[in-house]
Amino acid sequence: MKITKKIVGFSVNKADSDTNIEATQAQPERADVIQMHETLKRPEKLIGSTYKLKVPSHVSGHAMYITINDIILNEGTEHELRRPFEVFINTKNLDHFQWIVALTLIMSAVFRKGGDVTFIVDELRSVFDPRGGYWNKGKYMPSIIAEIGEVIETHLIDIGMLKRDEVDPEQQKMIDAKKAELNAEAEASADAEPSGGEEAWQANASLCAKCNHKALVLRDGCQTCLNCGDSKCG
Ligand SMILES: [Zn+2]
Repeated sequence: MKITKKIVGFSVNKADSDTNIEATQAQPERADVIQMHETLKRPEKLIGSTYKLKVPSHVSGHAMYITINDIILNEGTEHELRRPFEVFINTKNLDHFQWIVALTLIMSAVFRKGGDVTFIVDELRSVFDPRGGYWNKGKYMPSIIAEIGEVIETHLIDIGMLKRDEVDPEQQKMIDAKKAELNAEAEASADAEPSGGEEAWQANASLCAKCNHKALVLRDGCQTCLNCGDSKCG
C-alpha cells in the first residue's frame, strides 16, 4: 500500500480491542496528556471548595455544606485542567442522610469517569419535590436536590467547565431600565412590600419558567423576564 499523505499519527493493533479503540481515538499530539479516568489514583492532597446551602427551616432544620474536591491534571503544562474529583455533603439533619450518601457516591463516581460531566447539573435541577419547592433569594428552587445542582453548576463555572449564561449587553440595558422604573413605582406606591431577600421590583413579578426566578413582568404589553431576558414576544 502506497502512503500518499503525510503521516500524522499511528497506532499498533493489539488483540485487546478496548485499548485499541482508545489508542486510535487519542489525538497524536496529545498522547501524553492525562485525561480524567476512573482508574486515576487519588492524589494525597486535593484542592476543595465548600459551599454553604441554607435551605428554609420547613425543608431542613440545618444548613448543608457541599464540598467539591478538584484534581489538577497535567499541572504546569499547557494542558493543565482542573476537574471535579469527589463531592461530600455534610449536614446535621439525619433525615437526609441515606440519600445524601447515595447521591454523593454516585456523583463522585461520575466525576472520576471523566468526559463531559456537566449533564449532572441539568439532571439534578430537574428534580421536583412533590411537597413543593421553596424560594431562595427571589429564585424558585424545585427541591433541595435542584439546589445542589445549582451549587455544582456554580463550581463548574468557577473551574471553567461551564460558561455562565450571559444576557447580551443591549438587552441588559433594557432590563436594568425596566427594573429601575419598577423600583421607582414600588417606592411611590409602597403598597406591595417585597418579601425577604427580594428587591422592590420583584413584588409583583411572577415566576419565569426558563430560569425559575421571580422576575417575569409586563413590559410594553409583553411578559418579559428581568433576570434571563426571556420574552414571550421574541
Ligand atoms: Zn427568566
